[in-house]
Amino acid sequence: MPELACQTELKLPRIESYLDQIESRLLTFDATASRGGSRLDFSFPFGAARFDMEGDRVFVDARSPDREGLARVKDLVATAIRVYAKEDAPDIAWRGDLAGETQLPQFRAMRVASIVDMTPRMRRFRLAGEDLGRFARFGGMHVRLLFPSREVPAPEWPTMGPDGLVAWPPAERKPTPRAYTVRHLDVSAGWIDVDFVIHPGDSVGSRWADMAAPGDMIGLMGPVGRPVPLDRQWYLLGADETGLPALARMIETLPPETEGEAWIEIADRAERQTIANRTAIRIGWIHRNGIGPGTDPRLAGKMLSTRWPGDRRSFGWFAAEATAADTVRRHWREVKGLGRDETLTATYWRRGTTGFMAGG
Ligand SMILES: Cc1cc2nc3c(=O)[nH]c(=O)nc-3n(C[C@H](O)[C@H](O)[C@H](O)COP(=O)(O)OP(=O)(O)OC[C@H]3O[C@@H](n4cnc5c(N)ncnc54)[C@H](O)[C@@H]3O)c2cc1C
Repeated sequence: MPELACQTELKLPRIESYLDQIESRLLTFDATASRGGSRLDFSFPFGAARFDMEGDRVFVDARSPDREGLARVKDLVATAIRVYAKEDAPDIAWRGDLAGETQLPQFRAMRVASIVDMTPRMRRFRLAGEDLGRFARFGGMHVRLLFPSREVPAPEWPTMGPDGLVAWPPAERKPTPRAYTVRHLDVSAGWIDVDFVIHPGDSVGSRWADMAAPGDMIGLMGPVGRPVPLDRQWYLLGADETGLPALARMIETLPPETEGEAWIEIADRAERQTIANRTAIRIGWIHRNGIGPGTDPRLAGKMLSTRWPGDRRSFGWFAAEATAADTVRRHWREVKGLGRDETLTATYWRRGTTGFMAGG
């Protein structure tokens, strides 16, 4: 198949001050980079990007053997530029293959196929849709679900803008996005499973999960998130119930000889789930037993007190409420001096804040 390619020319007068950040971000998407003179090349498993710097201009060339891959490279490059080149605020307009295309490659309309209560507060939705191959690619295990809300009960779905990024409908027709994890997927059968925490308070995602019925439609975008390396000998994993689907999926994916410790915080014993753990990772449960979600310090405490083996290639992964995630991130980064290739700490929700969707 001939290679697909597209280009954009950007005015980035301050590129020198944030080029390292762009490079460091793109490297976490399974990329390798090489610099030579005023050129920076990235190679991804699904394509390539080249930056050529000339004065205050940067010429970006994106390539891939296929459409999904090219859209992914464009999206990663455009997102990195949006995040780090805020002061330069460049116009991004791609020419070449797929330019002018408005169908968003990372979007699928999904239908609720079935609903199962896993525990009193965790509900599993099987969502059926077409052409789900990309959700098994790119290493990301998370998605953005696009919900109808009280204000917008019948939203319009997003399209792709000329910058390669998502173009949203106006507010009165916009769906509400929330981040969730693909717990299981079967590309050939055409479904994914998503486990929803049913939590108190006014919300969009949890409220939808409380009320939805088979046949209801929901938008799916992704995959999103940095790939977690699956080749380490030892892991320290920690999550509250929002990170439980991701932690369980990782444990079920890691090779059997993998060692380590995993700690999961849940409301009480009734929230325990069976995880098909074939590894040598030991799983411990922390029951809040009446302590409010996001206020129990014990999960973060376990991450801080666990000793990492000095003689094995290791990785630390943590996902929970913001306060715990900040504590663990600071400890791993600042006290232990571990880098991005050794840890991933993510805030999955923030007490008192609606729609918190960051990754760390
Ligand atoms: C990468 C990623 C993956 C995620 N995967 C999952 C997943 O697989 N399953 C899942 O259930 N969640 C997951 N989350 C967390 C989920 O996105 C948040 O909990 C989100 O806030 C839920 O949206 P909502 O509309 O229900 O609540 P919002 O409208 O965002 O919030 C309403 C109120 O509820 C509070 N709140 C939000 N979440 C909780 C909670 N868990 N417990 C108590 N109070 C809460 C908020 O602080 C706010 O006060 C993930 C988050 C990220 C970033």
